[in-house]
Amino acid sequence: MIVANRKNIREIRDMIKDHKRVLLVGCGTCVTVCLAGGERETGILGSALRMALKLDDREGVVVDECTIERQCDDAFIDALGSHGAEYDAICSFGCGAGVQALAERFPKTAVYPGLNTQFMGILEAQGVWTEKCSGCGNCRLGEFAGICPITRCSKRLFNGPCGGSRDGECEVREGLDCAWQLIYDRAREIGMLDKLESIATPHDWSSGLDGGTRKVVREDQCIAGLGPKA
Ligand code: SF4
Ligand code: SF4
Repeated sequence: MIVANRKNIREIRDMIKDHKRVLLVGCGTCVTVCLAGGERETGILGSALRMALKLDDREGVVVDECTIERQCDDAFIDALGSHGAEYDAICSFGCGAGVQALAERFPKTAVYPGLNTQFMGILEAQGVWTEKCSGCGNCRLGEFAGICPITRCSKRLFNGPCGGSRDGECEVREGLDCAWQLIYDRAREIGMLDKLESIATPHDWSSGLDGGTRKVVREDQCIAGLGPKA
């Protein structure tokens, strides 16, 4: 999932300072699961923002909130319909993709991010999310016992550790697992240590963000005659 956390109330209040009617839009998918921008969090933020504006003598500012199933899918933004255009600002509690989807859908309305999008990761323990994938576009987990050296080795090393690992921890930060220790341990566990003996080929970064914004087109899923959405 995409993991995000919420901007603080002061930042949000400052972002909307020039607006009179503000709609807070939550998202029912990843950011609900990571407890950052779902219906509950958007409602709490809405109440906190109204209180903050009252303390600032700006109680005339209208702050409403709603939550849609997915902000990154135009079909779900239909639920907002023309309603969104009735506001002079929208503050999205979706990830960065959701914010941009709303900006595209409401070209005449100011759109602000209510969250800081962090990474693609997993729920590791209650209240703890960790990063697992950098979306390199060319997955090589099969070569590294299912542990991503691009994301989880601080130096993105492909051919073994840097030498700074101590007791399984990365030298970059205390408490951070050394990815190469994890790769080695798991490779040994599943009997694939021999695979690590051959030199891993350099990564093809052209499929990553360095090659420009990416796009996935599934011709078999495109509607005949309309072609892929530009
Ligand atoms: S190799 Fe690439 S796609 Fe696979 S987990 Fe790592 S960053 Fe993600
Ligand atoms: S200590 Fe481990 S995770 Fe940290 S940079 Fe070195 S090899 Fe990578």
